[in-house]
Amino acid sequence: MKTASKEISAVSLVQEALDKAHQYQDEYFVFDWIDDAAIEKARLIDEKIARGEQVGRLAGVPYALKDNFLSKDGESRASALILEGLKSPVTATAVKKLEAEGAIMIGRTNMDAFAHGSSTENSYYGPTKNSKDLQRVAGGSSGGSAVAVALGIVPFATGTDTGGSIRQPASFNGVYGIKPTYGAISRYGVVAMASSTDCVGFFAGESEDLDLLMDICAGQDVNDLTTLPDFYSASKVKEGKKRIGIIKDFDSDVVDAEIRATLRTKIELLQSKGHEIVELEMPALKYALAVYYIIVPAEITSNLSRHDGIRYGYRSDKSRNLNDLYEHTRDEGFMPENKRRIMIGNFVLSSGFYDAYYLKAAKARTLIIQEYEQAFSKCDYILTPVSPNPAFKIGEKVNDPIAMYLEDVMSVPLNLAGLPGLTVPAGKTKTGIDLGLQLVGPRRSDKSLINFAKELKEVA
Ligand code: GLN
Repeated sequence: MKTASKEISAVSLVQEALDKAHQYQDEYFVFDWIDDAAIEKARLIDEKIARGEQVGRLAGVPYALKDNFLSKDGESRASALILEGLKSPVTATAVKKLEAEGAIMIGRTNMDAFAHGSSTENSYYGPTKNSKDLQRVAGGSSGGSAVAVALGIVPFATGTDTGGSIRQPASFNGVYGIKPTYGAISRYGVVAMASSTDCVGFFAGESEDLDLLMDICAGQDVNDLTTLPDFYSASKVKEGKKRIGIIKDFDSDVVDAEIRATLRTKIELLQSKGHEIVELEMPALKYALAVYYIIVPAEITSNLSRHDGIRYGYRSDKSRNLNDLYEHTRDEGFMPENKRRIMIGNFVLSSGFYDAYYLKAAKARTLIIQEYEQAFSKCDYILTPVSPNPAFKIGEKVNDPIAMYLEDVMSVPLNLAGLPGLTVPAGKTKTGIDLGLQLVGPRRSDKSLINFAKELKEVA
């Protein structure tokens, strides 16, 4: 990506991004908020360059921030009414690290409220449109970030991935998207969805840019005790021919024919380049979706209980007493999908149902983790579709939660196991909709994964 220097000013880079952001906003609805004051930050970088001072590795690079990252710029609303008016007193660790290197945030991107969804239709502010077809969804929950990169507004954008929210919109819009190993990047200052699967990651047009962003942002943080000591910058890239695992069950009728054909072609091409293909049987994966939609709502219930209209954000004015205030605020402030998950979460955690649902799901999660461990003793990476279908029509699934959840069947297993996953653009459907493939690796293999992504894209 282009950084500011004596030849290219930060002001020109940021101005160009802001112009594009405004130009596309009405049609695509990429941003919840565009920060025109970003240009002032660009001026400061240019002044540093003029004085001959050292500037960071992302000097003057404009980027888009998913709306669930807290920062002092604008309101951090996670595209939900209940957070409207929230001026955060803290800045997320990832944002601090990016900005310490000179990156400049030009706007907050639209998302499914609280990151609950697979299409960005659950945003309080309305849906973001797909970058190739205005009738179709952007994917989600980080739809705005994916489209910001796909339309060339910014070279990179942040995202969060709890069950596919980076990989699926990346696939729907033809860009790279990485969900790192769980704990690679601090979650401090990110609006929590499900703490045991939430990951901070990125979208970019080039895989090399993901490498730089990981190098900058990975590492331990005293404010997030689940962070791992920085393994990224010290990782050695795996060289030579690879053993690529493919999962038998993921090549079935539930998967769109064009996606299956794309996967098969890639596999043949990889084989022709001397890579070995290993067929994997992973029977526990069929439980992953059910496990995810028990564990994640349970954690959501707990994380969303703090939004009560007392401490911050929106407060309903219909209340006559305290209980009323909680009720109206939460009723008006959450989207229907948020409420559905709060109810499922309370149900699976309630006494009488805890053993039957939550505990069982936790055990099945362990089976899934073990199955991946066995798989990675036989192969280096696993290659799968990202989702069973390409970008669908706006409105097609939003009133059918089960159909929407089924879209996540191939992305959620990794989150349950804490593994890194990467979307690599892999072509288009006959009607011009982007298709991506998902590359999965063992824990801490992020650097090798990013490195292999380039090779994967290029075998065509
Ligand atoms: N689509 C998944 C869900 O709705 C994943 C969301 C996410 O990764 N934030 O739970």
